[in-house]
Amino acid sequence: MNDEGYGGNESAEGKGSFDVLVVGAGFSGMYALYELRQRGFTVAVVEAGSDVGGTWYWNRYPGARCDVESMQYSYSFSPELEQDWKWNERYATQPEILRYANHVAHRFDLKRNIHFNVRVRSASFDEECNLWTVTTDTGEQILSRYCIMATGCLSLPREPNIRGLSFFEGARYHTAQWPREGVDFTGMRVGVIGTGSTGIQAIPQIAKQAKHLYVFQRTANYSVPARNRPLDENEVAEFKSRYREHRQRMRTSGSGTLWTQENKSALDILDGEREEIFEANWNRGGPGLVQVFPDLGRDLKANETLAKFVRTKICQAVSDPVTADALSPKDHPIGTKRICVDIEYFETYNRQNVTLIDLKSEPVEQITPDGVETSAASYKLDCLVFATGFDAITGALQAIDIRGREGNSLREKWAGGPRTYLGLATAGFPNLFMVTGPGSPSVLSNMFVSIEQHVEWIADCLTYLRKNEMDFIDANSDFEDRWVSHVNDLAEQTLFSHAKSWYLGANVPGKPRVFMPYVGGVGAYREKCEQVARDNYEGFTTTVAVKRR
Ligand code: FAD
Ligand code: NAP
Repeated sequence: MNDEGYGGNESAEGKGSFDVLVVGAGFSGMYALYELRQRGFTVAVVEAGSDVGGTWYWNRYPGARCDVESMQYSYSFSPELEQDWKWNERYATQPEILRYANHVAHRFDLKRNIHFNVRVRSASFDEECNLWTVTTDTGEQILSRYCIMATGCLSLPREPNIRGLSFFEGARYHTAQWPREGVDFTGMRVGVIGTGSTGIQAIPQIAKQAKHLYVFQRTANYSVPARNRPLDENEVAEFKSRYREHRQRMRTSGSGTLWTQENKSALDILDGEREEIFEANWNRGGPGLVQVFPDLGRDLKANETLAKFVRTKICQAVSDPVTADALSPKDHPIGTKRICVDIEYFETYNRQNVTLIDLKSEPVEQITPDGVETSAASYKLDCLVFATGFDAITGALQAIDIRGREGNSLREKWAGGPRTYLGLATAGFPNLFMVTGPGSPSVLSNMFVSIEQHVEWIADCLTYLRKNEMDFIDANSDFEDRWVSHVNDLAEQTLFSHAKSWYLGANVPGKPRVFMPYVGGVGAYREKCEQVARDNYEGFTTTVAVKRR
């Protein structure tokens, strides 16, 4: 945005005031801006980064790319955009996705309403004026009738608190705060801590450059090959000719993708037939393998058939049997942590310049000025890469001091775990919405599908309020309680509780262990949201603010 300030209307106090303030300019915030502006609302967006793209602006580590196929991991709201944009690879790289974000911002003239390099510190609801006051790290205050938190599920990076870390004298990077100019590892002894989706993408790339790469692995992870490749022109044309049909299928699916599923249990068929199905999906590549049978996520015995299949693949890929064994996950069912998708991850351990350090057998004792000391050895390093993930789903929301009615704090309300109605709103915090909030499918889905659905639901809701001359909406506690129970009940029917995952907050010391996303699938979830809207926003109090007082 230019230097003219926030624009909008000037209030009596001289603060910028808007119908809607959106926090975050990733794909959620960008679409919220577009959609609400189209509908005639005044909108401002505040973004901590210096440009659009969110995840794809911050995560510039080598090897970063999507794991939902590019043709599906994109906006559907503009058929013209869909036809004009050309994806080059089956799984787009971070630079390509960031170019796409910039193309969208330019095409729809979004940046004029985005205020970059500004972080929101607090937001409080003024019941008298029925307005949100948002305070930024630059000390400015912005007033808005409605506030949309498009702050991202995976946007607050986590660096573990390891003894001695601050004394490390080499270079230190977090994958989610990667320098814009990139990092040259040539000739360096590099340590990577973390083997989640990020580490698994970055490790093969860093290994190609580093003099020696030491991978510090605490928990072995399941990973499936991406089978990435350039997209063929004919297949792109064919896909584009059926885009509307594909998008519709994605919206009503479980995961927001076109992955297919057998309509039988993994246990109801002969071992040979099951192996063939696993093999075909392994060769096809991508994360769809973990959903190929409906009971893989619900039944331990069914799950183990796939887990064993993947462990065998790991042992075939890695030459050294001790390393292969250490890389084979045994402590959680497959799919209960986000399945990783890789390009030659396991094969990387066959390189002479790569060493796996299994922290289960030799835990880290401390970081020293020149490396990492485990219980068994000390590793001299020139730089350390933290691929240690995020305070996921609630982290970015709770980093903001959000105060609702009677000054109540969201952090306090959620001290025992997040509580929302539909993952869109939380009782006692009127006129505040979350895009892909806890209690919605969010990270269990193709995020574009979930983002668009949430933004459109919120935009419809604000349009409904305006049409009915209302300006106040708050979730009702009893409906929220029932939604929270429903989300928990569904999660309990799955195997998710068997892993210490970020889905459960288990990666952050002291965070309450609550399974946060909605596991019922994007199709069922969409139907529920649509029913609520059809029934005049059932479970919400909607009114004219002045009447409520
Ligand atoms: P984000 O992209 O996280 O954007 C949120 C923005 O809000 C950020 O720019 C942040 O700076 C800003 N912000 C947060 N707090 C504040 C504040 N207080 N003040 C101001 N600004 C603030 N999903 C998929 O479906 N498929 C994939 O293949 C996939 N790959 C991924 C790969 C990586 C490396 C990561 C980390 C995530 C991936 N995801 C993927 C999830 C991804 O986060 C979403 O797909 C999507 O990009 C989220 O968009 P968003 O706008 O909701 O959030
Ligand atoms: P993550 O899945 O949380 O992985 C973090 C890794 O760091 C884990 O291996 C963890 O080990 C390790 N770790 C954390 N603290 C540690 C410590 N103190 N000592 C040693 N190891 C430690 O984070 P992520 O890899 O950044 O991925 C987060 C999510 O982002 C993914 O699940 C996915 O949704 C998304 N993502 C997607 C892609 C993609 O392919 N498109 C790529 C990157 C990210 P433990 O398991 O033992 O805790």
